[in-house]
Amino acid sequence: MVKRALITGITGQDGAYLTEFLLAKGYAVHGMLRRASSFNTDRIDHLYHDPHVKGANLTLHYGDLADGTVLRRVLEKVEPDEVYNLGAQSHVKVSFEVPEYTADVDALGTLRALEALRDHVAHSGRQVRFYQAGSSEMFGGAKPPQNEKTPFEPRSPYAASKAAAHWYAVNYREAYNLFICNGILFNHESPRRGETFVSRKVTRAAGRIKEGLQDKLFLGNLEARRDWGFAGDYVEAMWLMLQQVKPDDYVVATGASHSVRQLVEIAFGELGLDWQKHVELDARYLRPTEVDALEGDASKARKLLGWQPKMDFATLIKLMVTHDLDLAQQEKTLRRAGYESPARGAASTGVG
Ligand code: NAP
Ligand code: GDP
Repeated sequence: MVKRALITGITGQDGAYLTEFLLAKGYAVHGMLRRASSFNTDRIDHLYHDPHVKGANLTLHYGDLADGTVLRRVLEKVEPDEVYNLGAQSHVKVSFEVPEYTADVDALGTLRALEALRDHVAHSGRQVRFYQAGSSEMFGGAKPPQNEKTPFEPRSPYAASKAAAHWYAVNYREAYNLFICNGILFNHESPRRGETFVSRKVTRAAGRIKEGLQDKLFLGNLEARRDWGFAGDYVEAMWLMLQQVKPDDYVVATGASHSVRQLVEIAFGELGLDWQKHVELDARYLRPTEVDALEGDASKARKLLGWQPKMDFATLIKLMVTHDLDLAQQEKTLRRAGYESPARGAASTGVG
């Protein structure tokens, strides 16, 4: 029997890697897509085939975590074996600008999905396994290293919403005996990372500066430390959680942390650039409350899931820099040919 997976947030960074991973395992993958006025499927376009083509195994359904009716309808229609709830307003700084929306999607959206799951399982008698995308941001002010026993001290509307979603998930597991796992994932990046997250903002800028397309990069707090891993490694941990005999919660991290300053040094150094000539502080990128240091202790995942990260920090940054240098070179070629590309990047948004 072909297993069916339903992914909310399929168009995001993790959604794309998880879809690739599950398709390679022979799953039929179903994803929830938000309607947008422009295409928002860039990250999964290479995986999508016309449904008329035999063997096409990726199906998209319109839906939104703000709409409980659609969540129920899609669940009933797909009858998945596994649900991965990755959809979220996932940007910490943006969550200070749109806290109510962030709570609606990240906290209440998870509750809506869990309510749909609870009723679907009760009516159908089917076994459905559910993954909830939790975040190291939930630890917030707690001192590193953080593990599953570390109390949450959320420092942003995003973190508070994810913490609520975490506890909803725990409660639904206990109250209704559902197979629900919380992954508490530390920051994970890739060439598919959104361009307003610091890693990608830095590697995009380094490539464009190298190609003479921009001169300055404006950043906020350079002293914050994060435990950055590779997204491709982390989606395997999500899947492993749902293959266990019992549902549980797991920290997923590399166990090593670096500062934003070190990230910048490595990225610019990779291209032979002196970052100090290009990087400037812009207070718009500071947060009202900052999370100073995240470093995960993933020994439980290593022991029980047999999971470990394959890519280290320096290799990850090199991969992203190489990818983004290539993008900058393409942009330069287009400009030379007379095509003006719109100003890109987080620097103009004020929320990146
Ligand atoms: P991402 O690239 O920002 O993707 C978020 C996904 O959620 C996108 O597909 C987005 O759709 C979708 N989405 C946004 N609002 C939605 C709504 N109202 N209803 C349904 N879908 C909605 O995030 P990611 O990096 O892949 O992260 C995946 C999940 O893991 C998120 O829940 C995130 O908070 C969590 N997480 C991420 C990290 C990390 O370091 N990456 C760490 C810990 C936890 P559009 O494409 O249409 O915007
Ligand atoms: P987060 O850990 O989920 O908030 O991931 P981000 O990539 O958005 O931010 C990681 C760290 O980089 C945080 O401590 C930010 O304050 C810091 N940072 C410094 N400058 C910037 C910036 O210009 N943009 C973003 N997004 N983060 C920045």
